[in-house]
Amino acid sequence: MTGALHFDKLRKMRKFRVKMIETLKNTRNLPDSALRELLESPDAALSGRLKDTAREVCLKVKGPEVLVRALIEWSNVCRNDCLYCGIRRSRSGVPRYSLTPEQILQCCEAAWKDGVPTFVLQGGENPAAALGLVSVVRSIRERFPSAAITLSLGELPFETYAALKEAGANRYLLRHETANPDHYASLHPAGMRLSSRLSCIRELKRLGYETGMGMMVGSPGQTTEDLILDLRLMQEIGPHMIGIGPFIPQSGTPFENCPAGSAETTLRLLAIMRLMFPEANIPATTALATLLPGGKEIGIRAGANVIMNVYTPFTERRKYDLYKGKTDV
Ligand code: SAH
Repeated sequence: MTGALHFDKLRKMRKFRVKMIETLKNTRNLPDSALRELLESPDAALSGRLKDTAREVCLKVKGPEVLVRALIEWSNVCRNDCLYCGIRRSRSGVPRYSLTPEQILQCCEAAWKDGVPTFVLQGGENPAAALGLVSVVRSIRERFPSAAITLSLGELPFETYAALKEAGANRYLLRHETANPDHYASLHPAGMRLSSRLSCIRELKRLGYETGMGMMVGSPGQTTEDLILDLRLMQEIGPHMIGIGPFIPQSGTPFENCPAGSAETTLRLLAIMRLMFPEANIPATTALATLLPGGKEIGIRAGANVIMNVYTPFTERRKYDLYKGKTDV
């Protein structure tokens, strides 16, 4: 009797979850309680269904192609001191470098030859150097008129965003990192504010950039409620691209002894994001692959549709040392 009751209860729960995933497929307005269940449930079958559904939606909306991007980590010089980051200003023992314009163009050339026509220039936050990149972006645009030029250079004066756009950049990645202002303050030094970051994101959108947002999963102090806030914030702003990856501690940073984020939660979030933002370009990131062998493929099977391959010259790659064990070095 008890067994039968238990079985009945399980069946009801399963039915509820299947229904929830069906709902998720058809609506972008799942209540917080459903998101909490999808993120926290120990039920492996639920997690599997969620990822399969996301892959199905991805195939339907984005098609079977996995888009490849060329990541060019152009400089590790940074004015910021984000507590999690391996290229933070005060971390010693990091040889600092910046690629020359010629080196950057060579990286683009190599990617182009490989059939990768999207160049992502990422680096530490350095407004003066970013202004110097305006002419580099112009040269890339002249040499590769049909390429997509994506930038990820942190928070810059709006005029610099405009100048880079005018020079030919078309996309910008600026993760919001966390949508909870108190949590944001605990991850960043005094003076850095979530509101400033969000102003930048809104300005980038206004300027006509395809704009990317995103967060680390499992950064110190993060709760499920924070992740739900992240999803709500992204629903409000509407990013074209979403980059997420697990937090991974780096030695010589204040968070060196904190545990890494969960690959499983990252995968569930990838899946939820595909269902909430079916059209978005969502990479299976290097951080996920660092924590989970085969993470790029597994991320694709959970709803991601982009991978970013590193084209930074071998001589410098190791110095772009965001977190411990970064793969592709
Ligand atoms: N300066 C740029 C690029 C930052 S590096 C900017 O401010 O946007 C790119 C991303 O790496 C960051 O947005 C952050 O989410 C991620 N990152 C940094 N340190 C990390 C760590 N220890 N673990 C996982 N991801 C990290």
